[in-house]
Order: sequence, then C-alpha cells, then structure tokens
Amino acid sequence: MDLEAVAVVCFVVFVVVLWWHLWPRPPEEELPPELCGTRLVYAERLFCSLGPVSITAKVDRVYRNAKEALILVGLKTRKANRAYRSDVIELSAQRLALMGQTGEAVADHAYVLTERPDGRRTGCHRVRLMEPVDLIALVERREKLLAGKAEPRPTCAPGMCQKCAFARLCDPPWR
Ligand code: SF4
Repeated sequence: MDLEAVAVVCFVVFVVVLWWHLWPRPPEEELPPELCGTRLVYAERLFCSLGPVSITAKVDRVYRNAKEALILVGLKTRKANRAYRSDVIELSAQRLALMGQTGEAVADHAYVLTERPDGRRTGCHRVRLMEPVDLIALVERREKLLAGKAEPRPTCAPGMCQKCAFARLCDPPWR
C-alpha cells in the first residue's frame, strides 16, 4: 500500500471514530445494563391518576423489564452530567400517574439520561423514587403554600438561590 492509500485509510478511520463519538444517538443505545433487551412500551405519553390528589404527568420513556415491571427513563438536556432532586420529584409524579391510570407495577427506581445542549450523551443516573405518600404530601404542601396557608422554608440546596427569581425578596439564612 502506498503512502497516499495509507493516508486515505487513516482519514476514513478518523472520520468514523469522530462520527461515533460526536453523532447524537437515540437514547435506546445509551440504556443502562438493566434495560438492555427490554421493551419500550410508552414514549412521550400523558398519564393521569385520580386519588387524594390528581396528578397528570408526561413520561419520556417507559420500558418493561424481564419481571414485567415498568421502568421509567427521563431524558434531560443540561450541561451538568448529573441528576437533580427535581428529576426525582418529576419521575415520582410520572410513576404515580402511570400506576394510577394503568394499574400496573412501576419500579421504585428510574433512570435519568443526560445529554449536553449539543446533543452529546453524557451519562445515565439511577435514582430512587419517592414513596407515593411523600409525593402526595409534597403536592398538598405546594397547594397550601400557593393558598397562603403554609409558611415557606428556604431551600436546602443553596446553589438554587443563584438563579432564583425570588432572590431579592428572600432572605435565606446562609446569606
Ligand atoms: S432565594 Fe429564597 S426562594 Fe429562592 S431558592 Fe433561595 S431560599 Fe428559595
């Protein structure tokens, strides 16, 4: 093989490797081992449960594992390769809505798949979901706060204050 042919082969290999690393791939290719070989049963679908509180939530992805349990997956676009407590609350609400509407068992853990704004996948985070009773208590507290029937408390995550729209009106203890 002459030098020109070697250069062409090297270039093609370089392009393929670059494409493999940078091209946005469908989430199914980035699933955690637990979900490999499972079946996607719902995508981008709205569910609603009626109970002590009514919860409507849209799921990103739901898979059925080998034990026939449903597992939720949330897709998040963000710079940080991490899951937040807000993801847990959101997925817990989806779980309650999904269980309420379908009557099916939904796992008490879920996955958050993160990708950067440029579409590059960054991570997969397993999160433990809230118990329904705790989620309902949270919803009820929110309703009381909005009705002025409960006292607000500062967040336990000071980092949230940096981008908070109410920062000028609020005086959290760490300021
Ligand atoms: S500034 Fe106040 S309202 Fe905003 S996140 Fe912090 S504690 Fe909460």
